[in-house]
Amino acid sequence: MKLTPLEPWIARKIGQTQFARADLKRYQLEKLRETIQLARTKSLFYRQHFANAPHDLATLDDLAQFPFTTAQDIRALPLLFLCTSQDDIHRVVTLDTSGTTGNPKRIYFTRDDQELTIDFFCVGMSTFTDPGDMVLILLPCERPGSVGDLLALALGRIGVRAIEYGHGKDERATLDVLAREKVTGIVGTPTQVLALARQPNASALRLKSVLLSTDHMPNAIVNAIERAWNCTVYNHYGMTEMGLGGGVECEARRGYHLREADMFFEIVNPQTGKPVAEGETGEVVFTTLTRRGMPLIRYRTGDLSRFIPGSCPCGTTLKSLARITTRLDGFVRLGESFITMADLDEAIFPIEGVLNFAATLTDEEFKITTRVVPGLETHAIPAIHIALESIPAIARAHLNINVLAQMPQGNWGKRTIVDRRSGANR
Ligand SMILES: [Zn+2]
Repeated sequence: MKLTPLEPWIARKIGQTQFARADLKRYQLEKLRETIQLARTKSLFYRQHFANAPHDLATLDDLAQFPFTTAQDIRALPLLFLCTSQDDIHRVVTLDTSGTTGNPKRIYFTRDDQELTIDFFCVGMSTFTDPGDMVLILLPCERPGSVGDLLALALGRIGVRAIEYGHGKDERATLDVLAREKVTGIVGTPTQVLALARQPNASALRLKSVLLSTDHMPNAIVNAIERAWNCTVYNHYGMTEMGLGGGVECEARRGYHLREADMFFEIVNPQTGKPVAEGETGEVVFTTLTRRGMPLIRYRTGDLSRFIPGSCPCGTTLKSLARITTRLDGFVRLGESFITMADLDEAIFPIEGVLNFAATLTDEEFKITTRVVPGLETHAIPAIHIALESIPAIARAHLNINVLAQMPQGNWGKRTIVDRRSGANR
């Protein structure tokens, strides 16, 4: 098994020829101190936010004495985070407006900040692509500095050709491109790539590798894609706040190795905010170590995961963060139990012909709107009913399940259960 290329890359970045965790910890402490100093001096937000925080850190553990930064903080006044002049900002990413304040989240990057992302994409993609390969990018590519654009730049640097294809095009046309351009790998969201893999004739193609990103990755989707194309599916973890990239799986595929020279990761108890014991599940919190435009310090991601104890079968002593399957706000209460989108995914996606679905709970019913390969509806719809009733929390709640095959193509972002029940039923 090939050692993750992140290990020698991180060793180089911290000025060593061989990776050793003690060197990394020394480097991370130095960069944390620099980042906190920069934030306190230059950012109006952090100056106030850290008014009662310690003056400095003596160890990495001291970071736990600093307050968290949240998505709400960014929504409220994103410009106050800036540590450079606005002239030095090369790219602004505006994220959803679904927050309670209605303000969008804005994340700012300098040219150097973006360069860090491209550098990570080069190394991450080299895990499962080789020079001469051809990769189809199904992520947004349109704007300079968008995730697909930076990924294509990175692939070019490692000698891999890339097609900046973008979201939401007709699947048959996309399959034609895969065949015509002799594509060897795809980067996309799980449901997007599943919809391609489940088209009639898709299995005439052979691919080397698929990287799934943006949303959690159900095992049922991995299995369907690997079966269709005889390829290996890898998972990437990242969010815009991390500078798009956070970590990527190695050949062992037992969780993500992380950009530990660019970010310091913590797992905290979401209720108490205290660090959990090594190996326990909690909320993922990260601090940027090398970003200059808008450093994020102890940023709460809302994602739940844990560090997998021990070293990875690929041979690295880099940390392995377990695959993210759910978020803190992803649990929907049903009586005494909960369900998550991941529960529904693992029940529904094994069903032949299912391309995607959306789930909505109302006071009257549990509605599943699904998109199915034409001709397979009469098989898929009853199978979805049975699969849902096999989930104990759903069976106990005696929900009125309504499955409709009328979902349009699209909806490639993060998928959640929409809860429209009135307060009393929640
Ligand atoms: Zn590994």
